[in-house]
Amino acid sequence: MSLEITTTPSASPRSDEDVARVLEDPGFGTTFTDHMLQVTWTPDDGWHDARITAYGPLSLDPATAVLHYAQETFEGMKAYRHADGSVWTFRPEENAARMVRSSHRLALPVLEPDDFVRCVDALVEVDQRWVPDAAGEKSLYLRPFMFASEAFLGVRPSQHVTFMVIASPAGSYFKGGLTPLRLWLTEDYTRAGRGGMGAAKTGGNYASSLVAQQEAMAHGCDQVVFLDVAEGRYVEELGGMNMYFVYADGSIVTPETGTILEGITRSAIIDLAHKKGHKVEERRFGVDEWREGVASGEITEVFACGTAAVVTPVGTLQWDGGEVSGAATEEAGPLTKEIRQDLVDIQYGRADDGFGWMHRVL
Ligand SMILES: *Cc1c(COP(=O)(O)O)cnc(C)c1O
Repeated sequence: MSLEITTTPSASPRSDEDVARVLEDPGFGTTFTDHMLQVTWTPDDGWHDARITAYGPLSLDPATAVLHYAQETFEGMKAYRHADGSVWTFRPEENAARMVRSSHRLALPVLEPDDFVRCVDALVEVDQRWVPDAAGEKSLYLRPFMFASEAFLGVRPSQHVTFMVIASPAGSYFKGGLTPLRLWLTEDYTRAGRGGMGAAKTGGNYASSLVAQQEAMAHGCDQVVFLDVAEGRYVEELGGMNMYFVYADGSIVTPETGTILEGITRSAIIDLAHKKGHKVEERRFGVDEWREGVASGEITEVFACGTAAVVTPVGTLQWDGGEVSGAATEEAGPLTKEIRQDLVDIQYGRADDGFGWMHRVL
């Protein structure tokens, strides 16, 4: 049975002038739309009471389980406005399926993918005036999330769970635009081991990455790169982005899945690169291969990808005691730019979506 969603419009929505002013320079993740969506789960009633109401603070009991044991999962996706005014999301069923996998790992209940997509669509529809024009590659960032909302300090899966969707207009994620990143290779911290929750999109992975990110910034770097737990030799990913390495012969390597987050952008890039005739290998990729490949010129481009930042070039890898910069240190390399353009052209409806990736909301 699919969820029935009720809507109670906000009594004090932002004025059209206010919204227009925000959309001119939305930044990232600081301003939220007029409404939010909320659904409740209990063992007896399953998912029920799906409602869209005015955006506002939640009232939580101090014993709410998520505040103590971090039982939560989330997703990140965007709504794009096309030139004809229509509004679309990108592969939302993939986000829905990933939330099911993440929730399984965090012992949270399953929200059926159809219901997930309907909830996201419903909020976008109610707050459609917050979806920016395509100009400047702006979008409405969507944040579905699920958390343990039972007030109980014992350690067991929560018997009361809340799923929510909130939305926030977004400009470019990195203020510097397409300037290549300087990455810090952390040798003190890791993000996920075998049997851990590295493949789940859960706040705990981000909590554990923050100190490493601080270390990166203290060394003058933009982002941190993590290596595998077992041997400390293989490249995993950044705090919130997957990685790609482009060779001079046009072949591409990306770290295999398992302990990394299975990015939807990552998988789209594999398909796009195949379509352009590139060989793509998903395999373990040693940090020594990175250092040596860049130094010898065998690796010509390095980039990172994710929904928020799309595709971002990597210029320099720095570690305790050295650094190596590739050919594309001052600006993005040609394939990085091409793949980024191919992807955003599909997302904004400027290129044919031969993959069936786009989902029309309005
Ligand atoms: C969300 C996320 C990504 C990127 O995934 P996309 O589906 O491409 O947005 C990469 N790494 C981590 C740790 C993430 O949480």
